[in-house]
Amino acid sequence: MTEHPPVTPEVVAIPRPVAGEAANLVGKTRDQLHDMLIQAGTPERQARMRVGQIWQWIYHKGVRDFALMTNLAKDYRAMLAERFTIELPEVVTRQVSQDGTRKYLMRIAGGHEVETVYIPEEDRGTLCISSQVGCTLTCSFCHTGTQKLVRNLTPAEIVGQIMVARDDLGEWPELGRAPKNETRLLSNIVLMGMGEPLYNFDAVRDAMKIAMDGEGISLSRRRITLSTSGVVPEIAKTAEEIGCLLAVSFHATTDEVRDRLVPINRKWNIATLLDALRAYPKLSNSERITFEYVMLDGVNDSDEDARRLVQLIKGIPAKINLIPFNEWPGAPYRRSPQARIRAFADIIYKAGYASPIRTPRGEDIMAACGQLKSATERGRKSRKEIAGEAGLG
Ligand code: SAH
Ligand code: SF4
Repeated sequence: MTEHPPVTPEVVAIPRPVAGEAANLVGKTRDQLHDMLIQAGTPERQARMRVGQIWQWIYHKGVRDFALMTNLAKDYRAMLAERFTIELPEVVTRQVSQDGTRKYLMRIAGGHEVETVYIPEEDRGTLCISSQVGCTLTCSFCHTGTQKLVRNLTPAEIVGQIMVARDDLGEWPELGRAPKNETRLLSNIVLMGMGEPLYNFDAVRDAMKIAMDGEGISLSRRRITLSTSGVVPEIAKTAEEIGCLLAVSFHATTDEVRDRLVPINRKWNIATLLDALRAYPKLSNSERITFEYVMLDGVNDSDEDARRLVQLIKGIPAKINLIPFNEWPGAPYRRSPQARIRAFADIIYKAGYASPIRTPRGEDIMAACGQLKSATERGRKSRKEIAGEAGLG
């Protein structure tokens, strides 16, 4: 494993453990859990087995009360209850869209808030989770980008979003009954909520390892998609240490336009990004990369853009997700007309790539891509700043 220098000097907001965080068993890796149990007096030779048992109660059965962990001795359960907690983010509000999309506003330590969205579809149920409160990046079309970074989420807060959604969906096996063998309500995870997951790499990795662990939530790495705006040095690490599918917020076909839309492009430009992407499928043993492309009227949606896009990604196994721009109050862009989006999709399709046009979900509750933003603020960027970043000021 290669060591990378820190790429985010601006992210100093790694949370200090607050009361409860250190003792919370949720979000700890198996190794960490092992050490915690030993420190609490568990004999070495039993620790591995206890980790497995507790792990199953928490992540397979969804139990939150040590007293219910009936395969552990009574006094051991009492000891656990005294020293540790099983804590999840608290749901502040839950909104349900006309189309069945559910948006949760969750409160985490420090009184901060994040949003999580559940999107039911015919053949799957996708949970869109957040990795940061706010975002350090300032993509000019993104509502989250108008909210300055407050802090990184901990692994407990990331995996906790999945557990809270499963609570709400009633998707834990009933105690004493064999788990139902049917399509899971929550079958897929996308790291496409608030924040840049690759600027919170370790926490995201630990949380996804827990989500993938076969003795617990047990989601396949092929059902997890991490979306990045293009943090190039962390892309190979994502393949090696997480191994999930990758989506990239591409959004433009020239550096000049991408610099304006996705400012991280000034650090790692299109050519550098494409090099990292070319290596990803092999490194992660996954089939293809998803290129996300937001359709902004008159900005990045011409036929010429479509043709350039196809040229740029030549040789990369890819799917191109066209996302009609989702508006938010004060947004400096408009959505491309439907006919334009279709013409763009057609050029890509004819070049041999899948080019689905994403239907906005949960727009009526501001749950669609790029609309998430919580009230937690350290400072709000002004409209003038937003327009400046968009090159419109
Ligand atoms: N920070 C990560 C993941 C979160 S954003 C990233 O940027 O990839 C998830 C996707 O929604 C990204 O492709 C993002 O560019 C897109 N998005 C942001 N704002 C949007 C908006 N207003 N309309 C449509 N898509 C948007
Ligand atoms: Fe951050 Fe992603 Fe929004 Fe850009 S698109 S501001 S990286 S959340």
